[in-house]
Amino acid sequence: MTREIKIHNNLTRKKETFQTIEAGKVKFYSCGPTTYDFLHIGNARAFVVGDLFNRVLKAFGYDVTFVRNFTDVDDKIIARAKEVNQDAIKFADHWVTEVQKDMESLGMRPATHTPKVSETMPEIIQMIQDIIKNGSGYVVDGEVLFNVPTMPDYGKLSKKDIDGLQSGIRVEVDAHKKHPTDFVLWKPAKEGEASWDSPWGKGRPGWHIECSAMAKKFLGNTLDLHHGGIDLMFPHHENEIAQSEAANKCGFCNYWAHNEFLNFGTEKMSKSLGNVITIRKFVEAYGGQVLRHVLLSVHYRARLEWTDEVLQRAMDEVKRIHEFVIETKRYKANGSGPIDPEIEKCIEKMMEELSNDFNSAGALGQYFTFLRYTKNAKDNLSEASLKQIHKTNEFMRETLGFVNIDPESVMAEFKKQEQNTSNSDVDAAWIEGLIEERKVAKASKNWARADEIRKELMAKKIELKDNPDGSSTWKILGL
Ligand SMILES: [Zn+2]
Repeated sequence: MTREIKIHNNLTRKKETFQTIEAGKVKFYSCGPTTYDFLHIGNARAFVVGDLFNRVLKAFGYDVTFVRNFTDVDDKIIARAKEVNQDAIKFADHWVTEVQKDMESLGMRPATHTPKVSETMPEIIQMIQDIIKNGSGYVVDGEVLFNVPTMPDYGKLSKKDIDGLQSGIRVEVDAHKKHPTDFVLWKPAKEGEASWDSPWGKGRPGWHIECSAMAKKFLGNTLDLHHGGIDLMFPHHENEIAQSEAANKCGFCNYWAHNEFLNFGTEKMSKSLGNVITIRKFVEAYGGQVLRHVLLSVHYRARLEWTDEVLQRAMDEVKRIHEFVIETKRYKANGSGPIDPEIEKCIEKMMEELSNDFNSAGALGQYFTFLRYTKNAKDNLSEASLKQIHKTNEFMRETLGFVNIDPESVMAEFKKQEQNTSNSDVDAAWIEGLIEERKVAKASKNWARADEIRKELMAKKIELKDNPDGSSTWKILGL
């Protein structure tokens, strides 16, 4: 049995009851990252939201096949790899590993399939051939383009129409194009660039086609649910729809969900973050549990403004939850009565919130109501109530991922941070000493020690910046 869930479907711009193609099964695709650097915490929102959908659908009894791709073939990757004189695929692969570490640190469960573009070339080429065969693709000088006007309902997701789009495009666009809105499916590679053999010569795919090909490979022609950041709705998702529907001659996806941005404010950048902060740096300083909490403590469709208060509140709440979970392990049952109805209803209330378009913020609110009640009732708990409390904590861990499997480690991390901040009338001489030691370590290629020093400083909220001349400067990340 599966529980009914409502999803705000961006195809219709309405909240609808989720009906899957096959009863009890969900075919779910979420657009993954392009891997050429550490990811910014702004990117983390989409991944954590995809993880939430996957967890909640599973908790509601669905058999979910969840695909999240890695874009490892891309112009930016090729350019960056060239700068450091590395093979582009190997370079991208290194970053796939790093991004996976970040995802784990955010408590993300693995997807069912995590395909890479470099491993999907036969399917990509096949799909482009199908698009050409069906009259929506054309070849000009080794380049394959998608002819947008062949899809009369193009724009149905982003609610844009072809005429409106056309008038927004200047005439100097690619002279190859039959229509200004046409987009690239395959492009010829320049000499020395990563390339694959194709019926149109050596080249590589345009960006959009990979998701259409990967979705088809692992989920079939029609998906139940597709998710991504709101910035991907146009043109990326619109183009995915056009490609898949042209190639497969049937509807591509029934429900589309998009998460809003994480904003850092226009002028007043949060002091604690500096200009740009990677997931890695944030997790080193505050722990992954805190970032996950920030990102899911508001509904995915609401804009999230990053402020120092938001961060502080997340830290407080993560602490309260984990203190409570540890405390409940010590609770002793008092008698064999029935389950206290106030305690019993929490899971059901959380389910109600989550079944309302994955309302993680509402579910969190319900949990805190339960937490307050339970703390007051702790001396009067029946055996059955106590069991239910543990079950509720487990449900919280399964669905929102807000309870760490090892709550003691989260509290130990907080304790360490507190000690560090209380000692944080920083000793500049000590920092300079470590910077000097790190310089020596780097000169003798002792990367492990150099990295250790950077982490040691980060633990005290001191961030190092390496300058091109080999020197390093530091700054304190305030709370
Ligand atoms: Zn995509």
